[in-house]
Amino acid sequence: MTERHSTKRKPKNAVKVGDVVIGGDSPIVVQSMTNTPTKNASATLDQVHSLHESGCQLVRVSVPDKESARSLTQIVKKAPCPIIADIHFDHELALRSIEAGAQKIRINPGNINSNIKVDKIIAALIEHGTAVRIGVNSGSLERELFKLYSANPPLALAKSAEKWTDYFTQKGVERIVVSIKSSSVPATVKANEIFSKINRVPLHLGITESGTVRSGTVFSSVGLGILLHEGIGDTIRVSLSGDPVEEVFVAKQILASLGLYDKLPRVIACPTCARCTYDVVNISKKIEHKLLKYKSNITVAVMGCQVNGPGEAKEADIGIAGGKNYVLLFKKGVVIAKIPKDTAEKTLWQEIKKIIT
Ligand code: SF4
Repeated sequence: MTERHSTKRKPKNAVKVGDVVIGGDSPIVVQSMTNTPTKNASATLDQVHSLHESGCQLVRVSVPDKESARSLTQIVKKAPCPIIADIHFDHELALRSIEAGAQKIRINPGNINSNIKVDKIIAALIEHGTAVRIGVNSGSLERELFKLYSANPPLALAKSAEKWTDYFTQKGVERIVVSIKSSSVPATVKANEIFSKINRVPLHLGITESGTVRSGTVFSSVGLGILLHEGIGDTIRVSLSGDPVEEVFVAKQILASLGLYDKLPRVIACPTCARCTYDVVNISKKIEHKLLKYKSNITVAVMGCQVNGPGEAKEADIGIAGGKNYVLLFKKGVVIAKIPKDTAEKTLWQEIKKIIT
């Protein structure tokens, strides 16, 4: 199976970030961000490895100080995927991060507060062939757009993105990705729609401060889902307050739900009811977690009972359904064995492994 992307997706420039391509004909790139102190290179590298193993293609690390910028050299050298340095306010840190070998930097030019400093960053980007993400949000908006923002926030955000894209392009930067974000889903959607109509620069999609794992998943799924369905977006990050590996999992599921990501294992589980005879919730969670690092189109069913189990989940490649004193093991809706309840999870995993390896 190959990874698919939407036929509606609008053609964009292809931007190389190390060995990963954002835009062009490439599938939508999943990225995330570490939450370890970057100055602790070994802890950060551990998290970069975990993220990469779970399917994250680009990892962003924040660079809030010189110590973090120093640590970046080691992180970039040992990372299994390209690294993006996240910079706010301080152009010196952007310059140090580019020197350290970051394959891409993310800046909000609006909060660098000086075109002379932005120009220094541009010169370094060109010299090192580093990609840049130009970030735009309400907090980094230029003064001249304040009035427009109060009347029409999405238009003001899109105008700011257009202004900075033109500025960087005219100065000779080729590898540009843009993000236009707001904590309001409708404003983010509208601003990205406006920008994508007028510009071929690839778009990074995300909802800022989207929240805890539950609310963040909902906000990101709705916001990113609308845009991706319209064919807008070339790389995504789901922002969640929690383990960043969860962000990767949710991002992959958003893409898979729209047919934009292939080879993502799927676990279907029933909601349980009074007929349930074993711990469906726990077993389905554990199996889903174990499958996280596998690239496979397998569908696994964990159903509470045999009344609706094998029948409802007949599309599943393998599944279990509760019986009175046992659990049924079934393949494509056909029961193949009765197994003791206490070995259900183990047996199911053994059967899954036979299919995915
Ligand atoms: Fe209830 Fe069985 Fe349906 Fe699960 S599969 S919700 S236990 S009837």
